[in-house]
Amino acid sequence: MRKYAPVSFPDVRLEGDFWRERLDTVLARTIPSQHKKLGEYGILDSLKLPQPPPPLRFPRHANGFTVQVFWDSDVGKWIEAASYALAHRRDADIEAKIEAIVDDFEKAQAPDGYLNCWYLGREPEKRFTNLRDNHEFYNAGHLLEGAIAYFQSTGRRRWLSIMERYLDHIYAVFGSEAGKKHGYDGHEEIELALIKLYHLTKDRKHLDFATYLINERGHQPPHFFDVEREEREKKGIDTQRYVFPNYEYSQSHKPVREQDKVVGHAVRAMYLYTAMADLAAELGDEALKHACEVLWKDVMDTKMYVTAGLGPSAHNEGFTWDYDLPNETAYAETCASVALIFWAQRMLHLDLDGQYADILELALFNGALSGLSRDGTHYFYANPLESDGRDTRWDWHTCPCCTMNVSRLVASVGGYFLSAAEDGIAFHLYGGISTSVGVAGTEVGVREISNYPWSGDIRIELSPETPKAFDVKLRIPGWAKSFSVKVNGEAVSAQPANGYLTLNRTWSKGDVVELDLPMVAERLYANPSVKMDIGRVSLRRGPFVYCLEGADNPGGPVQRLKLPRAAELKAQTRSDLFGGLPVVTISADAVAIDQGGWEKTLYRTDPPGQEKATLTALPYYLWANRGTHSMVVWVPEA
Ligand SMILES: [Zn+2]
Repeated sequence: MRKYAPVSFPDVRLEGDFWRERLDTVLARTIPSQHKKLGEYGILDSLKLPQPPPPLRFPRHANGFTVQVFWDSDVGKWIEAASYALAHRRDADIEAKIEAIVDDFEKAQAPDGYLNCWYLGREPEKRFTNLRDNHEFYNAGHLLEGAIAYFQSTGRRRWLSIMERYLDHIYAVFGSEAGKKHGYDGHEEIELALIKLYHLTKDRKHLDFATYLINERGHQPPHFFDVEREEREKKGIDTQRYVFPNYEYSQSHKPVREQDKVVGHAVRAMYLYTAMADLAAELGDEALKHACEVLWKDVMDTKMYVTAGLGPSAHNEGFTWDYDLPNETAYAETCASVALIFWAQRMLHLDLDGQYADILELALFNGALSGLSRDGTHYFYANPLESDGRDTRWDWHTCPCCTMNVSRLVASVGGYFLSAAEDGIAFHLYGGISTSVGVAGTEVGVREISNYPWSGDIRIELSPETPKAFDVKLRIPGWAKSFSVKVNGEAVSAQPANGYLTLNRTWSKGDVVELDLPMVAERLYANPSVKMDIGRVSLRRGPFVYCLEGADNPGGPVQRLKLPRAAELKAQTRSDLFGGLPVVTISADAVAIDQGGWEKTLYRTDPPGQEKATLTALPYYLWANRGTHSMVVWVPEA
């Protein structure tokens, strides 16, 4: 089922200014500062077993839950991000820090292979008694992804071997066979990690267990979480209460192939769908693929913010009902947009269809990248689309999941640029890369040069070792109103199919493809079923969604500004906003509500005056980097 496979990020050198800057920031500042925070918050200390457990840093909620149960996952994600960083640039200090953590896990691991520092340190008798709430497989999944990344970057296998011992223990306890627990985790994650491990080792048992977890999820009666709870009650060991009254929260309300609406906790959902799409490709499972397509359509048609943020509600950190996309209270967790990128990439490799790459790109440049500050050490957990000026980026969070999700994404972003098949190369993203890809029995040097995402003027140089015929597939983004292509200076009249333009010819050293994707500043309107956006407009240029921020629009809250429908949108490259970083802004003539003359009056019969103004919009991902200001993505129309 899977024809194209991603070209892995260590094989892709980032050369374009945009991603070099983000990558260098993550390598130099984000990764080291995250390790420091893991230390300051006691997370690294929690691995040093045995030791008397200190009082909880984050006390249990009224329902009995504490975020400390998933501290292992934060360490796993940091190792993963740091390992991706090592693939760009070896760093003895970072490697020593990872080795120290591996030492701790090795010492902590139980003789039977079990490895979870929360349970081993505090409640060893309760292990595997509450997968519904306490994230044991979720932790294992993130530790495993870290171990895979570390092995791939350094060739060191100790950490991976520790995790394989743990997995063997999990496989001995859980599974479909009689006498084993028939269960799965309330927070999906391990499924996609196991498929990664299968790709690395080709050991079928990992794929089989991922398949088991996907197939088992949601089967009832009896529901696994009820069985688990009854066993806890019988033993009298735990009265921890489930926070949500239904199993939609963890996408376990029915078998996954029967699920047709996206529900519950957004990050859990995205990790599940990522694994489902991966598994569908691996097994050629049409029913699973169909379920993925139905769920994809549900998200795209009714549940995604224009920034590719997901999950409007803080209550369940997730989805509510169709078209419920409030702006100021949007939860839109950074992790959810990062995970949407994972899902979109798996869908793209089920079907090379530009709709998936479009969303991958949208999430990357907007909902995900907004989670990381310019300085690389401050973050957003929630990514609202409007602010009264009280939202600030934080340097750490009670639940630091988003911090390492965005750093591991940026450190591995090269892996999303292109894919290869026996007979072709497909370009999904542009932005200045070089790599070498095996196609049609020869090695093809590839260099893509552009100032994307600011400009759609793209040049691709191909250098096959020997002349060979193969496909070069160029993504023509959904936002592109027009395009032109030349091969060796000659215009090509081919048209795209499913978002990709295919050039098939015998390619020789020195061949050059020029792709021009004119980037036009334009308006976007929401389906009127999204009540919050009626009478409002958002702005887009290329892959970026824009916002108005107070820093660029002084004189009052940006909510006072209205954009006339006929006003011309002017794009301009500015280097004065972020210390020399070139940024394309959009400006337009606007109307501003006069704020004066109200004094202490709350309501009055005289309408406020209006005056001519100018508005300036900048890419959404850049907001909240220059102090606190009001911000709005959906601008009222005049
Ligand atoms: Zn998060």
